[in-house]
Order: sequence, then C-alpha cells, then structure tokens
Amino acid sequence: MKKIIALVTSLVLIMGFSSSTVFASKSNIANQLTNNQRKILKVYGLSEKEMSNITLDTIRDTLKNGKIVDTSVFGKAPVDDGTNKIPERLKEKFNSLNLSEQQLEGLRRAGHTFDEIANKDKSTINSMLAASTLTATPPYGYNNYPNIPDGGGAVNYFNPAVSITSSDIAWYVSASKQYTKHIFNLSSDPAYGTYSYYLYGEWDGTSVDPDGAYDGIPGGTHEGVDVKYNYGANVYNATPGTVLTAVTGGPLDGYVQVYDSYLVESITYMHVNNTALSQNDPVYTSTQLGTQSTQMGHVHFQAYDSGTKIPTGKDDTLECRIPYGFMTWHI
Ligand SMILES: [Zn+2]
Repeated sequence: MKKIIALVTSLVLIMGFSSSTVFASKSNIANQLTNNQRKILKVYGLSEKEMSNITLDTIRDTLKNGKIVDTSVFGKAPVDDGTNKIPERLKEKFNSLNLSEQQLEGLRRAGHTFDEIANKDKSTINSMLAASTLTATPPYGYNNYPNIPDGGGAVNYFNPAVSITSSDIAWYVSASKQYTKHIFNLSSDPAYGTYSYYLYGEWDGTSVDPDGAYDGIPGGTHEGVDVKYNYGANVYNATPGTVLTAVTGGPLDGYVQVYDSYLVESITYMHVNNTALSQNDPVYTSTQLGTQSTQMGHVHFQAYDSGTKIPTGKDDTLECRIPYGFMTWHI
C-alpha cells in the first residue's frame, strides 16, 4: 500500500498538481518539506519518522492544534538585555534626556523601541509622553518573563495559556525575526527592538497608543504578533492564498485578510494601508500587501480559523491560533 501511495504522490508531482488539491492533502508530501518546515514540525514534536510519512492534513492539524514541545532547533539563548531593561549603550543618552525609568516604560508600552526614543529630541519625547498613559496591570495569573531577547515584547506578562520557558521565548523571537525580515524585504536580520513589541498572548491592557482609536480598547490578551519597521515601509505577504478583505483607512488604519489555502487558515495583517489588492485576488509570498500604517507604526499578524471576523487584535480570551508556524511556514 505504501508503494502505491508513493507512486501516486510521484505522479501527482510529475503531473504538476498543486499540493493544495484535496487529493494531495491525503498523500505523503514529505519530499516537499523545506528545512525550515521540518524545523517547525520538530517544534511541535514530530519525529523524523513521522515527517517521512506526513500528509497535508497532518501539517494543517499540527500548526492549528499542536502543542509546542521542542524549540531547541530555533533561536539563541535569550540575551540578558530584555524588554524593559535599558541597554547599557543607551543609558547615558537617556540620562541626558532626563528620562525616568517609568517614563521609558510608558514609551515602551506605547510601542516605541529604545533606539527610536534615543533618537528623538526632548520636545518630541515630551509630546510622546503626553500622549501615553501608564495604566493597567495584568489580571491575576499572568506570568512574567522578564528578559525577552533583542528588545522584543513591551509588557512581558503572558496569558497563563501561553508557555514561556526560555526555549519557547527563543522560538517566538526567532520566528518573529524571520517573519519581520521577510515582510519588510530586509537583507539582514531586523535591528534590535524592531521585530516585536507585543508577542502572542502578552497582556495588552494599556491605553497608550498616541492615536487611541484602536489601542484604546480596554484590556485584553494580545492575539497576534506586532512587528515594526520604518513608518510607511512596504509590507510583503508571507502567506500565499486569496484575499478575503482588503481595507485602507478605518479604525485599524488598514488591514488585509488572506485565506491561506495551503494551511487552510485566515491570516490578518493589521495596520497595513494603501493596499492595491481586492477581494479574491491571488497573493504570493512576493506580493506587496500595502505599507505599514504611519498612524499605528507597526504591523499586527494573527491567525484565525474564520475568515469572517473583523479582528480586534486583542481579547479577553485567546481565540486566535499560536501564530509562529503560520508566520514562517512559507518563507
Ligand atoms: Zn498587535
């Protein structure tokens, strides 16, 4: 029987059928896996043997429902230079700007990186501070992870449903950086502090966005991952499929929803503006989705099973899937 399956798979490949056909979803597609995809499956605990016999249905089910068990193949050990810990190299600069640690924390919660703050003059910083409020603390039960590597994360309190061992965090960071590099078409790793200031499952209960229109939603667990680059930067797709919705402006300042027909998941890129795409347009990993919102200053990625929901980005409970596998599967 196995020989027959292998033969059929070969025929499908020779004949050039798309692996997303219903027929192929039951077939062994091990020989189509990239090294990166094998790493992702290993994160979810699949053995080499299981991978050698894998079907598309198993891949879809693993990314949606799998539990992260082995992240040793990804990332470096977290460096001792975490989110709200001021980098040594910038301490003198912040002293000269006369900024307290609390003010810096407020600006970080508003989504600004340490480097971004260090490059502003005092009067700009004062107006940034005036637009920020430092408010909510997470509900009981949220777990603190103090030192997220590379300046990622902004608050560091995670929903109890999200595992935050140091090796989990290394995988979250590694995947987020890989994704950031792709969607902004960078030739090298993104700069310190740009890949994320909210990870999946982080407490996002503050009302600190200078705009306030979106981030003013009181409280919640962050449903996706935020990454940022230059304001207005081109944003490229990471999930091939079909456009479900493409909106410019509005309370989210633009978003594009893509139906990933390979993984069978609805992917939303929020705060992506000036899109030239329309419903039902096919998109590839090279397709430009639009530009990073200048109002929001970041792109929010989330994976949700339904294509009909207009996502808010944060919720009382985690409704969206763990995003890292979806972010990096195709790139
Ligand atoms: Zn977000």
